[in-house]
Amino acid sequence: MRAAVYRGKQRLEVEEIPTPEPGAGEVVVRVKHCAICGTDVHAFLYDVAEPGTVMGHEYSGVISAVGRGVSRWREGDRVIGGGPPPPGSPFPLRQEPRFNFPKAGFASERRRGYAQYVLMPEWEPLAVPDGVNDQEAALAEPLAVAVRAVRRSAMRVGDLVAVLGAGPIGLMCVQAARAAGAGKVFVSEPTEARRQAALEMGADEVVDPASEDVVERMVALTAGHGPDVVFEAAAAKPTLDQALNMVRRSGQVMLVAIAWEPVAVLPSEWMAREVCLNTTFSTDSEDWRTALGLLASGKADIGPMVNQASFVPLDDIQQAFEALVVPTTQLQMVVNPWD
Ligand SMILES: [Zn+2]
Repeated sequence: MRAAVYRGKQRLEVEEIPTPEPGAGEVVVRVKHCAICGTDVHAFLYDVAEPGTVMGHEYSGVISAVGRGVSRWREGDRVIGGGPPPPGSPFPLRQEPRFNFPKAGFASERRRGYAQYVLMPEWEPLAVPDGVNDQEAALAEPLAVAVRAVRRSAMRVGDLVAVLGAGPIGLMCVQAARAAGAGKVFVSEPTEARRQAALEMGADEVVDPASEDVVERMVALTAGHGPDVVFEAAAAKPTLDQALNMVRRSGQVMLVAIAWEPVAVLPSEWMAREVCLNTTFSTDSEDWRTALGLLASGKADIGPMVNQASFVPLDDIQQAFEALVVPTTQLQMVVNPWD
């Protein structure tokens, strides 16, 4: 099969590698779409992925082969990843007590979705419900990240919410917060196309942090109090400090984006308001199920995030990654391994 193999130093090579065969208790999924995740772009940009890795964890496809003893899946079933933790293991790996993402999160030998086929243990796939198409299903994982961020937050119905950064995760935070009953959602984003997508996906107001003082604007939009909850989905140099500066007294900042470089904060500016900082990371299976439910019910709609130009063949993956390092008009890009 064909797969995009990370070869180090910001190079993805499309290579012919062995097609996986399912062993006992395993299934093979023929990948239809694999969305490019910001985390993969960071792994590429900061060269932290191991050479030889096939990345890509936001995919949808169909079961194309089942191994011995597999009874719950049949060829042709539409699935995504994201299943429950393996039987017998109470916690996913990332909940190891001292889990460190840069040190332990990229060690996987597994070949994943920037390939024509993916091998999975049979407990891992989740069935895609009717009413969720293959493109939407490929984006269930980033939506699940946003669902988790909202569920771990202190957000309550009617709250005023700010989202910093309107990349895919920020946009999905807008939709997850809306679905969870946010009163209003305000978005800060320097890229015009992404601000437009934020409005289409349910933001009440958008702010351009390049031309306005985003903290002042967010405070003004919330009648002088500051947002109740701020989702930091940008990981830009100033955004964590901005989030802590704008949040209301005793409000909460949810750190969603992963910064790979030091970011400055000035505690004297905001600590006297006794603000709370919380973090969220990745997903659990229940977040995926919730995400699929939001897509099926229409409470989440990825339409404004993708257009025809978002879908690229495997051969164009290198250019797609390079384009996403410095976003201008690109928002969500999706690899089609069979094109
Ligand atoms: Zn992802």
